[in-house]
Amino acid sequence: MPDTRCPRCGGPLGERPARSRVTTDREVLICTMCGTDEAVRDAHGQAPVPPGEWPLT
Ligand SMILES: [Zn+2]
Repeated sequence: MPDTRCPRCGGPLGERPARSRVTTDREVLICTMCGTDEAVRDAHGQAPVPPGEWPLT
């Protein structure tokens, strides 16, 4: 049974999880909402929320 929870928000990963950009190898799968949030932060030149500040790590 794979982990189907988004480690960033604790919500369901969904069917098309995004790859978090906080890791260089981009192996961390996050939900679409979190992927969008990271993309928006990136577009605004903000640093991504570090995994240490995610609710589930
Ligand atoms: Zn999420």
